[in-house]
Amino acid sequence: MEKILEQVKKDHVKFVQLQFTDLLGVVKSLTIPVAHLESSLTDGTWFDGSSIEGFTRIHESDMFLKPDIDTYAVIPWLESPDGNTARFICDVFMPDGEPFEGDPRYILKKAMAEAEALGYEYNTGPELEFFLFKRENGLKALPNDRASYFDLTTDEAYDVRREMVVALEKFGIDTEASHHEVAVGQHEIDFRYGNALKTADNAITLRFVFKAIAQQHGLHATFMPKPIFGINGSGMHVHQSLFDKDGNNVFFNAQDPYKFSEIAYQFIAGQLKHVKGIVAVLSPTVNSYKRLVPGYEAPVYLSWARTNRSALIRIPRYSKGKDKAVRCELRCPDPSCNVYLAFAVMLRAGLDGIKNKLTPPKPVEEDVYHFSDEKLKKLNIDTLPASLWEALQEMKKNPIARETLGAHTYERYIEAKTAEWDEFRLHVTKWELDKYLEIF
Ligand code: GLN
Ligand code: MG
Ligand code: MG
Ligand code: MG
Repeated sequence: MEKILEQVKKDHVKFVQLQFTDLLGVVKSLTIPVAHLESSLTDGTWFDGSSIEGFTRIHESDMFLKPDIDTYAVIPWLESPDGNTARFICDVFMPDGEPFEGDPRYILKKAMAEAEALGYEYNTGPELEFFLFKRENGLKALPNDRASYFDLTTDEAYDVRREMVVALEKFGIDTEASHHEVAVGQHEIDFRYGNALKTADNAITLRFVFKAIAQQHGLHATFMPKPIFGINGSGMHVHQSLFDKDGNNVFFNAQDPYKFSEIAYQFIAGQLKHVKGIVAVLSPTVNSYKRLVPGYEAPVYLSWARTNRSALIRIPRYSKGKDKAVRCELRCPDPSCNVYLAFAVMLRAGLDGIKNKLTPPKPVEEDVYHFSDEKLKKLNIDTLPASLWEALQEMKKNPIARETLGAHTYERYIEAKTAEWDEFRLHVTKWELDKYLEIF
C-alpha cells in the first residue's frame, strides 16, 4: 500500500475514480479526492448500490468498494496542471465484509478458482471489434470512412487508432495489432492474451478508453454488435487456453494433427454442448442476434474447425515452437457483453467438458453457411438461438449459467433481459411499416 500511495504522489494525482461494472457490464465510477485513497484501500469506500442494474434493490443497499491496486492507472486525457485523475478497478463487498455475490468480477474470480482447484489457469485473448461513427447532429450509424479489411490509404481513422493504442499503453495494456476491419468504419485493436481476470479488466478499460478518444475526434466509438444492416457486425472472438501451475499449456499435444490435447478437446466439447444455454450471456442484446446470421463471418452453426471462419469454434493454425499459443477461438461472443460474466460461463462450460470427459463431434472444414438443411441434419449440426428470447429459454434449461452466476445474478439477469426483449417485441419497427403499411 505504501508503494501505491507514493506512486499517486509521484503522478500528481488529485482525484481517484473507483470503477466497477454493473450486471450488463457497463462501467460505473465513484470519484474520491486522493486524500481518501488510504482509507479506501484499508476500509473500502461505501456507496449506495440500490439503483445499480443487477445490484440489490430492496433488502440491502449499503455496499463498499475496495480498489485492486494492480489496476492502477493515470487517466491520460484527464491530465491537468492542477492535478491528475487515476483509476482503480474495484471489488464490491457487503456490509459484513463478504464479497457481493452480484459483482461480476467476483463471479469470474469464483469460476477461475474452480479451474485453479483442478490445476488450471484460464487464459483469454478477446478481440473487440468496433465502429467509428461521425457525430453529426446527434448519434447516427454514419461510418467515418469507406475503407475495408486491412486498408491503409483510405483509412481515415489511422491516427485515431494510433492514439487509442498509445492510451491503452498508459493503462498498462500491451497492444499486439490494430487494423481496419471488413466493414466501413469498422476497426479492431487486439491486446496480448493473459489471465482471464486481467484481460476482462483490459476489455472494459478498452471500451471506455476508445469511447473517450473517439469523442475527442468528434467521433463515436460503438461496440454495438450489428449497427448496420447488410454488412459485417462487431464480434468479440475469444481465444482461450488452460495453463498448468508451471505455465505449460495443457491444450498442447505435439502428436495431434491440430496439436490439441485430450483436455483441449474435452474443453471445446463442453463449450459446444453448453453454448446454447450460455449464449444469452455471450451475445446479450436483441441486436446481438442480428449479427449471428449466415454470410458475415459470424457463427450460426455449432461446429468447430481449423480454417473455416463460419465455425463457432476455430483452432488457429499451429506455428512451430509456439506451444503456448495453441488455443481455441470461440467466435459467438460480441463486445456488448459483460466480459466478466462471459468469461465465467465460458470457462465453466469448458470445465464441464473436462470433468465429464466429453468428446467433440468431428470438425467441419467446409463453409457451413452454404450447407442445405438436409446436410446440416445429416451431420447433426445444431444452430445457435435465433433471438434473445430463444437464448433466454435455452438459458433457463441449462444449469451452467445458473451455477456460475449464482441465484441472485441469474435471476436479475433473466429479469433484465426478458424486459429488454419485451420492450423490443412491443415496438413497431420501420421494417414493418415498409413491409406492411402499403400492401395490407
Ligand atoms: N466481424 C466478424 C464477426 O462478427 C469477424 C470478422 C473477422 O474478424 N475477420 O465476428
Ligand atoms: Mg482478429
Ligand atoms: Mg476481426
Ligand atoms: Mg478472430
